[in-house]
Amino acid sequence: MTNVTRNLSKIRQRIQQACDSCGRDPAEVSLLAVSKKHPADAIRVAFQAGQRAFGENFVQEALSKQRQLKDLDIEWHFIGHIQSNKTREIATSFDWVHSVDRLKVAKKLSAHRPPEQPDLGICLQVALADEGGKSGVRPDNLADLASQIDALPRLRLRGLMCIPPASENPSRQRHWFALLAGMQNEIKQLGFSLDTLSMGMSNDLEAAIVEGSTLIRLGTAVFGRRPAGTGPDD
Ligand SMILES: *Cc1c(COP(=O)(O)O)cnc(C)c1O
Repeated sequence: MTNVTRNLSKIRQRIQQACDSCGRDPAEVSLLAVSKKHPADAIRVAFQAGQRAFGENFVQEALSKQRQLKDLDIEWHFIGHIQSNKTREIATSFDWVHSVDRLKVAKKLSAHRPPEQPDLGICLQVALADEGGKSGVRPDNLADLASQIDALPRLRLRGLMCIPPASENPSRQRHWFALLAGMQNEIKQLGFSLDTLSMGMSNDLEAAIVEGSTLIRLGTAVFGRRPAGTGPDD
């Protein structure tokens, strides 16, 4: 067994245990394998072990891997910071985008999404903590942004996403995830049919699952540590 194959089976156990601890069905939690800074070959190994959804943060890096992996039926998720001059590539080459936090970008994704492709899945990235400079829509603007984006053609609003401040403390981790889950419920009560809560990474997936995550985004736990010094890590 390769490391990636072994890692995926350990992750399935972690998901199972977290679900057991809170009475959830593991089938409700899907795994996005975050492959940024890892080569196409590593994705191929994970695919052979049954993984289908992969997340990338950098457009050029992702397009190059997509070319190398054209023969595989992969579901591609864009989870990185969106530069508005890259929205055409993102709208044509991905199935989902998790990092939408402003209307301008959503309008461009909508305009560039080819009509012959299925609607682009969208999660709104929410800035939970008041950390200047971090991406994400502020909670007080979330409902407005959701209704504006929901009205755009060729996009399908699926839910919310967050990257909370890193913490080793499980109750601190749960605090942020509970906040996002609460916002998701509020938005649903306004009439939006959201089915995705994109939260939890390698270090905090248990806390995220207990608070209702339906999609965990794991890089390190799947592929091992990312090579250092290859550019910004977000
Ligand atoms: C890199 C990244 C991840 C994965 O992080 P790990 O700690 O390696 O699991 C998840 N989500 C986003 C948005 C990322 O940029």
